[in-house]
Amino acid sequence: MMLADKYRPRRFKDVWGQDAVVRQLSGLARARRGSHLLLTGAYGSGKTTLVRIFARALNCEQLTEDGSPCDECPSCSSASDDCLVEYDVPGRGGDKDAIRAWVDVHNRESITTKWKILFLDEAHALKPTAADSLLKDVEEPRAGVLFALATTEPWELKPTLKSRTLPLEVRPLSAPDAVDFLETIARREGIFYDRDALLLLACVKQGHPRDLLNGLGQVAGLGRGVTVETVKSLFAIHDAESLIEYFLALGTGDASAQIAAMGRWRERMSSKIQGVQTLLTSIYYNELLGRKIVIDALLDTLSSERATIVSAFCARFRVNEVSDLIPYWSVMLDFWSRARSTDEEAARLQLCLFEDLVNRRLEHETSEPVSRSLSRAPGAPFRRRSKEPVKTIAGAPATDIEPVGTGDQYLGPLHVRKIVNTASFFVQHHGQTLNAAFTVYPSWRARSSEASAITAINRFREELADAFGLASAPFARVCT
Ligand SMILES: [Zn+2]
Repeated sequence: MMLADKYRPRRFKDVWGQDAVVRQLSGLARARRGSHLLLTGAYGSGKTTLVRIFARALNCEQLTEDGSPCDECPSCSSASDDCLVEYDVPGRGGDKDAIRAWVDVHNRESITTKWKILFLDEAHALKPTAADSLLKDVEEPRAGVLFALATTEPWELKPTLKSRTLPLEVRPLSAPDAVDFLETIARREGIFYDRDALLLLACVKQGHPRDLLNGLGQVAGLGRGVTVETVKSLFAIHDAESLIEYFLALGTGDASAQIAAMGRWRERMSSKIQGVQTLLTSIYYNELLGRKIVIDALLDTLSSERATIVSAFCARFRVNEVSDLIPYWSVMLDFWSRARSTDEEAARLQLCLFEDLVNRRLEHETSEPVSRSLSRAPGAPFRRRSKEPVKTIAGAPATDIEPVGTGDQYLGPLHVRKIVNTASFFVQHHGQTLNAAFTVYPSWRARSSEASAITAINRFREELADAFGLASAPFARVCT
């Protein structure tokens, strides 16, 4: 028998981590009061189980103290299946005819039970006409009939339908609750486990009881106990390793190791950045501030790796106390609090800017007043990595250049210089090449002839090539 079936709760006290929902349902059962329900929550979160306990409790003749069905009275032992009729909307069809056919059969007073719940699972898949036709049944149900709607997407449901139901949110278990849950079951089943592995499993399975138990059963089925290694091997968890590797490279300020770690990490850039932000936040609260806060259960299991990361940062910034890293961490967290990535490419560039901050400017930024570090746009101005003096690429000093163009829609020379400087930075520090195309508009051309514009652009191109030591290679060209 599957663990998830074996441990499916039959009483409210067996339901883990849903205190608010359980309180409401058991309260209704004790008051012998029926109510239409709307349960929201992820797939596998236990919505159906809760409705089933409620249906049996309403019919039970000798409720237990906590409002649960007694499991012994004639109603509990005989009629348990009649009190709940399920309809899977996406599976059986959400159009009006299909719903009507089902409702008309079941929306009748029950012969065997006092209360009967008509349960529509994944109710967001109801077609609008089906939802409209259901409205009247929900408003004026037959004696002893209740409707329960369950959905993962409550925003898709008609407000008129929602307003006639009692909303109940079934949440995933918190990481500590999920671990306690897994530990209780593992003990009862005599499964060998270590707690870090349970925490890792809780993270992979995102706190849904059925998933958690299926996961526990799968790992235990390998016959090698539930260890961090067996969980990792079964669920192919590699990403945390890339993240740790990346942070170690940040700690030592090693740009090539950072690029290598990112290269090995097979995920979307936006997910990687989410990982970076999560680990930064987690280390900040747990290691630096010394508070025990679960930010990410999976990352919490990697205590020795996290300690190594913190040591690497301490060594690089020559600080003795872990708490001395707080100013550095604040600057890094501040960077991400202001970053807004809209797509993969933007996210990639942001990460490059973050690496530049960590590798070259972190010490400097922490010694600046906060207001200044906040007002500085990330990444500007850029300096070359070598000790050579910074080369001015676009000719005259910035202050001598008059802004060109009549509004925000035009780039002036200052903007162009900033783009080129930024491109230069990415090429030098991250091996990222960029294509840039500039179009010269009449407002600019009106000031000089086309020929002189081309000459100016060509000169600019030569200076650019010269600045990068690429004079002989085809570096840029002018299209007229
Ligand atoms: Zn009973």
